[in-house]
Amino acid sequence: MKEVLVVGGGPAGLTAAKSLIDMGAKVVLVEKTDSLGGMARELTCKGFVECRNCGVCFAIDRANDILRESGAEVLLLSEVSSATKAEHGYSVKIKTSPRYVTDDCIACGKCVSVCPVDGKAVFPPTGSGQPRTYWIDRTKCIHFKKARCEKCAAVCPTKAVDYEDRATNLTRAVSAIVYATGIDPIDACEMSRLGCGTLKDVISSVDAERILNWKGRLVRPSDGKPPKKIAVMQCVGSRTVKTGVEYCSKFCCKYATKISQLLLDIDPEVSLDFYFMDLRTLYEPQDEFKTWAKSKKTVRMLRTMPATVTAGKEGKLLVRAASETDLDISEAEYDLVILSVGMRPSASGWDLAKTLGIARDENGFAKGSESLEREGIFVTGAVSEPMDIEESAVRAISSASKIRGSRGEPP
Ligand SMILES: Cc1cc2nc3c(=O)[nH]c(=O)nc-3n(C[C@H](O)[C@H](O)[C@H](O)COP(=O)(O)OP(=O)(O)OC[C@H]3O[C@@H](n4cnc5c(N)ncnc54)[C@H](O)[C@@H]3O)c2cc1C
Ligand code: SF4
Ligand code: SF4
Ligand code: SF4
Repeated sequence: MKEVLVVGGGPAGLTAAKSLIDMGAKVVLVEKTDSLGGMARELTCKGFVECRNCGVCFAIDRANDILRESGAEVLLLSEVSSATKAEHGYSVKIKTSPRYVTDDCIACGKCVSVCPVDGKAVFPPTGSGQPRTYWIDRTKCIHFKKARCEKCAAVCPTKAVDYEDRATNLTRAVSAIVYATGIDPIDACEMSRLGCGTLKDVISSVDAERILNWKGRLVRPSDGKPPKKIAVMQCVGSRTVKTGVEYCSKFCCKYATKISQLLLDIDPEVSLDFYFMDLRTLYEPQDEFKTWAKSKKTVRMLRTMPATVTAGKEGKLLVRAASETDLDISEAEYDLVILSVGMRPSASGWDLAKTLGIARDENGFAKGSESLEREGIFVTGAVSEPMDIEESAVRAISSASKIRGSRGEPP
């Protein structure tokens, strides 16, 4: 049976792969990084007492589903080097980089603790990425430079370190290709007036998600203390000509409202100011967050885009913003500022897209089309337009169904 190639192991690619397998297809899933899960690997579960439907666990569960599937060939640290039209689809060449750690890894972390390289040369998989197999970065590892450093191999309890691992080149015949290369978060430091990169306690929402995911609570990068007064700022880098991202990134209101609620769940004493232009909580009623905010004495919703963030007195951050009703400038001090960033389509994979005939729209997103689908090329997930995990999954299921429809049964 011919297989389907899925490019990208994020929520969209994983869901497409699972749906295709459930329909009886075989899937080759190519992911360029060390693990499956996509952007969701770096995101925190936003539930505390109860689930807040953020979708993050869904993506990690999907990754584990795919790893258990016998119908999936999962190729990590891999990229498609070429795709050429063949009789019943495409002949694709895939290059897989060596990991230098085998599946016997039990993720004990002993290798990292003994690695003498500054910044380390052996790493756990990104965030909550699956599988939890570690990997060695050959460009940093001194074993490959001066030879004979085998400290990680010496402490590894399962003998999982394999310096003889080599790059492989594979060829697969596939009947269809799912293109799901996803997103890159906007760099908050592109908005330098908000203190990113110069003030330690100004962090991006990506940083906030990573810290919460890793530690379960937020602390100030400058002194390690839990912040008591926090500002959350929306639309950072989105809806502005400055970054070239003139569109609404669509999911940042949703995650930022849930992070705000999580922060209050973790510490009910926290004061939180939520600066926003419009509240776009996707499929959930905006009123829900507004009602929640009104019910909390320490939460304010401020409909304005702050002008600057500068250093205040005694380690505080000073935020200047026009008031909601007139142009009077108000000032407020905070312990921590979170900049809620949006997204751009992933910068990776465009050579392949070009080969496959996938064009970009005026904002740089990948354009799917019926004619491409007739050729067996399916663009899905957030590389095609801003969307959250849930919508990425829904679109991916739709793509899988179309593949089944157009490529016969099973594909
Ligand atoms: C700060 C932040 C917080 C968020 N919080 C939430 C939230 O709480 N809830 C929610 O629903 N959504 C949230 N999102 C949005 C969510 O991350 C996206 O909706 C989702 O990740 C999109 O899934 P995707 O599979 O399309 O893309 P991605 O998750 O970006 O996955 C794409 C995958 O493709 C891989 N890839 C890229 N190029 C190639 C290539 N050339 N070859 C092989 N592989 C490649 C990437 O490495 C990646 O693994 C958040 C986003 C950000 C930035
Ligand atoms: S061989 Fe040495 S330098 Fe390389 S990853 Fe192992 S401990 Fe680090
Ligand atoms: S020491 Fe071995 S088993 Fe432990 S994390 Fe490192 S490679 Fe994996
Ligand atoms: S989703 Fe909200 S924060 Fe994100 S760009 Fe749109 S309005 Fe701004």
